[in-house]
Amino acid sequence: MNFPDCMGRRRLLGSALALATTGSLTSCIAGKPGGSGGSRRGGFNNAKDPVAYLRTSWSTDPFARCSYSYLAPSTLGARARTLLAAPVAGRLYFAGEATSSEAPSTAHGALESGRRAATEVINDAESGEHIVVIGSGFAGLGCARALSDEGFQVTILEGRDRVGGRVWTRRLAGAPAEMGASWIHGSAGNVMTKVLRETGDPSYAFDYDNSTGEDEHAMEELARYEKKLEDVEDPDTATVASVMPRRPSAALRNATNINYPLEFAAEPRQLSVTATLEGRDLKGPDLLLPRGYDRLLAHVRGDIPVRTQQVVTGVRYSSDGVTVTLKEGDTVRAERVVITVPIGVLKAGTIDFQPALPNAKHEAIRALGAGLLDKLWLEFPTPFWDKDVNVIEWFDPDNPGLWSWWVNGYRVFGKPVLLGFNGGGHAHELAQTSDDEVVDSAMRALHRMHA
Ligand SMILES: Cc1cc2nc3c(=O)[nH]c(=O)nc-3n(C[C@H](O)[C@H](O)[C@H](O)COP(=O)(O)OP(=O)(O)OC[C@H]3O[C@@H](n4cnc5c(N)ncnc54)[C@H](O)[C@@H]3O)c2cc1C
Repeated sequence: MNFPDCMGRRRLLGSALALATTGSLTSCIAGKPGGSGGSRRGGFNNAKDPVAYLRTSWSTDPFARCSYSYLAPSTLGARARTLLAAPVAGRLYFAGEATSSEAPSTAHGALESGRRAATEVINDAESGEHIVVIGSGFAGLGCARALSDEGFQVTILEGRDRVGGRVWTRRLAGAPAEMGASWIHGSAGNVMTKVLRETGDPSYAFDYDNSTGEDEHAMEELARYEKKLEDVEDPDTATVASVMPRRPSAALRNATNINYPLEFAAEPRQLSVTATLEGRDLKGPDLLLPRGYDRLLAHVRGDIPVRTQQVVTGVRYSSDGVTVTLKEGDTVRAERVVITVPIGVLKAGTIDFQPALPNAKHEAIRALGAGLLDKLWLEFPTPFWDKDVNVIEWFDPDNPGLWSWWVNGYRVFGKPVLLGFNGGGHAHELAQTSDDEVVDSAMRALHRMHA
C-alpha cells in the first residue's frame, strides 16, 4: 500500500455476505472473550457461501476493551507513553504496547516494553525477590522471562483462560487464523524477527502492492491532504481531521478509512497529528507467519508457568511491597508488580490502585485512546476470488470503508479463507451486532465485489 510520506511509522495492523441464504449461521455471540466462531450447517449450495467463520470483538472483551492504543489530541503529545511507562514508588512497573514510544500498537513493541520493565525491576530489586507480572501477552511473557533468567521468583497472573492476550492464533481450514496480531511489521532489525529465527519457522513476506481494487486516484487525493499534516502548528493537539475536507467524497472517505481506522484503529477526528509521526521507522518487509504467532509466544514463554483465570481487581502498594487482590478475594504478596494490562483496561479503571496512581499517570491514560480494529475470517468450499493477489480492496459507495480491505488466505496459506477488517466507527457499529449480521454484512460486500 502507499502511505503518506509524512508518516514516521509504517504498519497496517490488520495492516492492513443478501445473501439469500436458506439458513442461518450457527453463532455463538457470547463466545470466548474477544472472539467467536461457528459453522454453516446444511442448506447451502452456493460456492460463494462460507462454511465457517471466526469473528473478533476486542472492544467487548473485558481483558482488552480495545485492539490497541493511539495518541489522542492532548498537550502531552507522545510524552503520554513515557508517562504511562514510568514506575511508581519503586513498586509498580508498567509495560505493554501502549507504553512503547518506539513501536506502539505492535506485538514487538509489547515484547520490547516487557523487557524494558524487567530491566527497571532488575536495577531496583534485590536478587531473588518475588515479582508479580499481571498479564501474559508479549509484554508480560517477555518481562517474566527476563526476570526469571536473572533469578527472580516470578508469578504471572492472567485473567483469561488462555495465554497470549492480543496475540491469539486459532485455526480455520488449517490456516492460522490470527484473531489479534498477524504481521511482524518491519522485519529488519526487529526483536520479533529474532524470535522467529530462533523458532526456525517459515514466514511470508507480504507485498501490500500485490492487490486488486485499489482506488489510486482517491489515494493520491488523500496524499495531497496529508501533505498538509507537515505544516500543522501544534501536532500534539491538532487532529488529523483538521487537514481533511469538511465534505469528502465517498471515494476519499474510503481511502481515508484505509489509512486511519484500518491502520491506527481510530477515526481521523480522534487521532492527533503526532499519532502519525510517533515510533521508529520500520525497515524490511512485513511478515506473516504460516505456522502461527502463537509459536513465537510459546518460544518467549519457555517453561515459565502462568496462573490463568486470575483476574486482578486491586493493587495495594507501600514501602513494604505489594499486595495484589484477585476477583475471588485471594491475595498475592510480592516485592514488586509489573502491570501489562491493555490501555482499555486501565481506562476502564477495573483495577483499584491503593494509594491512587499519581495524576501524571491518570493524564497519560486519558491522553491515550483505546482503538478498535476487528477481523472476520471466512472459510469457503473453494476460492471464488482472485487467487493471485495478497490484498483485495473494495469500495462500497453507500458505506465507504465498510469491508474495504481483505487478505487473500489462499495466496498466503494455500487455504480457501478470506480475512476481512473493519476499524474505528465501522468496527464499533459491527461490535453491537450478532455474528449472523456481521457475516451477512461481509457476504453482501463479497457478493457485490464478485457479482
Ligand atoms: C485485531 C488486531 C490486529 C493486530 N495486528 C497486529 C499486527 O499485525 N502486528 C503487530 O505487531 N501487532 C498487531 N496488533 C497489536 C498487538 O496484538 C498488541 O500490540 C500486542 O499483542 C499487545 O501485547 P501486550 O502484552 O501489551 O498486551 P496483551 O497481549 O493484551 O496482554 C495483556 C494481558 O493482560 C491480561 N489482563 C487484562 N486485564 C487483566 C486483569 N484484570 N487481571 C489479569 N490479567 C488481565 C489480558 O488477558 C492479556 O493477556 C493487533 C492487535 C489486534 C487486536
